[in-house]
Amino acid sequence: MQTLTTIAVPNAATGMIRVDLGAIRRNWQSLARLVAPTACAAVVKADAYGLGAEAIIPALFMAGCRTFFVATLDEGRQARLLAPGAVIYVLDGLMPGAAAAYAEIGVRPILGTAAEVREWRDHADTAGKRLRAGLQLNSGLNRLGLSAAEIDDITALPETLAPIELTLVMSHLACADDPAHAMNERQRLAFDALRARLPKAPASLAASDGLMLGKPYHYDLVRPGYALYGGQAFGGAETPVKPVLTLAARVLRVDEVAPGDSVGYAASWVAPPAAGGRKRRVATLAIGYADGLFRHLSAGTGSRGGVVALRGHLCPIVGRVSMDLTTVDVTEVPGAPVTRGDMAEVLGPHISIEAMGAAAGTIGYEVLTRLGRRFARDYVGG
Ligand SMILES: *Cc1c(COP(=O)(O)O)cnc(C)c1O
Repeated sequence: MQTLTTIAVPNAATGMIRVDLGAIRRNWQSLARLVAPTACAAVVKADAYGLGAEAIIPALFMAGCRTFFVATLDEGRQARLLAPGAVIYVLDGLMPGAAAAYAEIGVRPILGTAAEVREWRDHADTAGKRLRAGLQLNSGLNRLGLSAAEIDDITALPETLAPIELTLVMSHLACADDPAHAMNERQRLAFDALRARLPKAPASLAASDGLMLGKPYHYDLVRPGYALYGGQAFGGAETPVKPVLTLAARVLRVDEVAPGDSVGYAASWVAPPAAGGRKRRVATLAIGYADGLFRHLSAGTGSRGGVVALRGHLCPIVGRVSMDLTTVDVTEVPGAPVTRGDMAEVLGPHISIEAMGAAAGTIGYEVLTRLGRRFARDYVGG
């Protein structure tokens, strides 16, 4: 992975997001090898977890990925343009009255209620051809998906499913990050029992964490998202993927703060007495919560408090993270003084998305999807 010192940052940029498309491709290939002969899809919802679907979908297609999952029809429309030959599933299912719009661009809804199944069937009848779709089955997450009773309802009349070409039956695991959790096997058995009530179709149960649970969870297709973007979702072992993201923010200025002086809103941080009467050196960075640096990383908000890295040295956030600005204590950075124009690592070799998530009381998934839009973006390895 590129380090901060190898990043060419445009002069005017207040911050920089670098996404390594080569690393994303290698991550997909690594997961595809791990689960072979099971097929490996890519989940690219929410603009490829905030990293940029426009660059990432073509990169994954070039790596060999032929099945993509998005959440909404708009995301499906974008994916269709970027990966013309691919199979595209819409996880949120079918919006009422929207069947024609899905069919027109050839994206497949993941139908999760009897009403959605009937609407898709009715549209197939109107169109005079069989239409492809996936079915979501509720194996215990209780969020989306057909229950046993709903399955029996739609299979009671063979003509309900006949106009639909079922290309996938799927379900989603609640606790797959924990390999010891009893829920994993319970859901797998429930999934099998639900599938048995339906005509035979390719099956899928595992996301990034579930695919690490082993063969019995792979079925015909796995659906990783987070792991493609370098995320470690699984608690039991390291997923064979590498980080893909570097986020760096500009140092605007560095000030000496005397013991007893406060920094930032609410005067929530007060410079402590320094060893030998030394003042603290506090750098103001051009990054704030509008850029995805959680306000909950502020010192003293009940979280662990966040850090950034300057020349590989971890510096604590002091005071409140504000919309555009964040202050960090750079007193202990060794070597030449930190100065205006330097770049601070916010995510990268020294700070993982999981570490930032944990420090902010959330998860790496939210770190990715909250990345702001105003930093320069650099896609390498395309
Ligand atoms: C988001 C999502 C995925 C991908 O999950 P990751 O943990 O990011 O791999 C897979 N399946 C469903 C149903 C999802 O909603």
